[in-house]
Amino acid sequence: MPGMDETDVVIVGAGFAGIGMGVKLAQAGRRFRIFEKARRVGGVWRENHYPGCACDVESHVYSYSFAPNPEWSRTYAPQAEIWAYLERCVERFGLAPHLALGQGVRSARFDEARARWIVETDDGAKIAARALVAAAGGLTRPTPPEIGGLDRYAGKMFHSARWDDSFDLAGKTVAVIGTGASAIQIVPTIAPRVKKLSVFQRTPPWIVPRNDGPISPAWRSLFRRVPLAQRAARAGMFARRELIRFAFDTGSPLSRVATKIARDHLAQQVADPALRAKLLPGYTIGCKRILISNDYYPALCRPNVELVTDRIEALTEGGVRTVDGAERAFDAVVLATGFEAAEAVAPFSLFGRGGRSLEAEWGREGAEAYRGTTVSGFPGFFLVIGPNTGLGHGSMIAMMEAQFAYIEDALRQADARGVPAFDVKRSAQDRYNEALRARLAHTVWTEGGCVSWYRTKSGKNTTLYPGTMTRFRWELRRFDPAAYETVAPKGAEQEIGSRVAAPA
Ligand code: NAP
Repeated sequence: MPGMDETDVVIVGAGFAGIGMGVKLAQAGRRFRIFEKARRVGGVWRENHYPGCACDVESHVYSYSFAPNPEWSRTYAPQAEIWAYLERCVERFGLAPHLALGQGVRSARFDEARARWIVETDDGAKIAARALVAAAGGLTRPTPPEIGGLDRYAGKMFHSARWDDSFDLAGKTVAVIGTGASAIQIVPTIAPRVKKLSVFQRTPPWIVPRNDGPISPAWRSLFRRVPLAQRAARAGMFARRELIRFAFDTGSPLSRVATKIARDHLAQQVADPALRAKLLPGYTIGCKRILISNDYYPALCRPNVELVTDRIEALTEGGVRTVDGAERAFDAVVLATGFEAAEAVAPFSLFGRGGRSLEAEWGREGAEAYRGTTVSGFPGFFLVIGPNTGLGHGSMIAMMEAQFAYIEDALRQADARGVPAFDVKRSAQDRYNEALRARLAHTVWTEGGCVSWYRTKSGKNTTLYPGTMTRFRWELRRFDPAAYETVAPKGAEQEIGSRVAAPA
């Protein structure tokens, strides 16, 4: 297009999803650019740097299969190490020339006259691409809690994903609101440093032991010298995780085993029966994310830590008031209150065929896609970690890799058939989502008796994939053109139609 930059594929976001997609496109010899609003790559592993931040999936599994890292220091690597791994991947696979750092994407519009995406960056630059990949992450929009007085509180306050490293918590009186995956890593890490810590719990999480520990130099050396040994270790961890999936079916025997493990863990770590009672969840294990920790319960037993289960009424100028009328003063309030995930709308303004907006589309009934990757009416648009691709049991990297392969195959088949873009048929998308809902129906995510970020306020699960990682990989093993219609530049449809009739 005259006067406009052009490329084959635009990727939005340079976290695990965007970098991995970039590697695959580079290996396939494609032209592409990765736009990232921040000045460094890393996604959630750049954004989240709160004390104690680490992955709760084993690092040998939570890393690319095509870039094994023999040097992981622990079973569950800390945030800084994971972030460094991603930066190393950029270097190792030569992605730097493709990266546009500090350039967020404001909008993208499908130009039907040319069957191209016109992508506009925050600074107003435009680039045309035949395919657009949104790899902007699902857990990136911190949720301010629905608590009155947030703007009245005059002390220091920040969200767990916006940790203020310049604020020294030592000797301070601190509140942590929330008891999810972030909070249970923060609480034990800051508890020894602060003067007093109050943890505000609305719903207790189920917590199981964290089988963590350093990976010895001998193991690392073995992994370095014998890559097969590392692959075997990874496969073992992967298989164990796949098995855990079956704990999420309502009434599953594995669910009973998991409940016993969690109850025993609580009993072993918390001697005080009153505290134990407060910490025992009243919903089925797995309905909310199962957490892993060996030091959260012991932290709550410290003399300088209290667990507050009275509901928060409001924040006041000096602290937090609970519904029983008690008011506690704090130097700092940490909001470990999670992210908007289920209600998530499009990662940027996106307009497909006929100018349809993805935000409007998803706003009506919640996000939906075909195989979590494509959306009807948005030809040549792909999501990595789109709707219903999340897991309660495994590694998101495995899900991403299935999507990378599917997207690359879509581009390859489009090339082979001379098709400018594929648009998934509405009927295929609807059928896929009906089947998905049926599979989610008899799981603890639906029937477990909790409120979780997996579901929208109306109860629709827009985040989780109901099956195993292996099944997802199988479903996405190759692009399926029968589920798609072809889209050509307006006026060129007939010519393309005749070419598509030929086999790829
Ligand atoms: P989260 O799991 O959504 O937890 C948010 C917490 O805030 C919950 O305990 C919630 O209580 C509480 N909360 C929300 N609004 C509240 C209010 N108005 N008053 C009182 N409490 C309130 O968020 P997260 O801990 O940040 O974790 C989100 C997800 O990020 C995780 O599930 C996980 O997928 C990912 N994560 C992963 C890791 C890792 O190690 N890989 C670490 C951190 C996060 P209710 O339960 O009652 O809603």
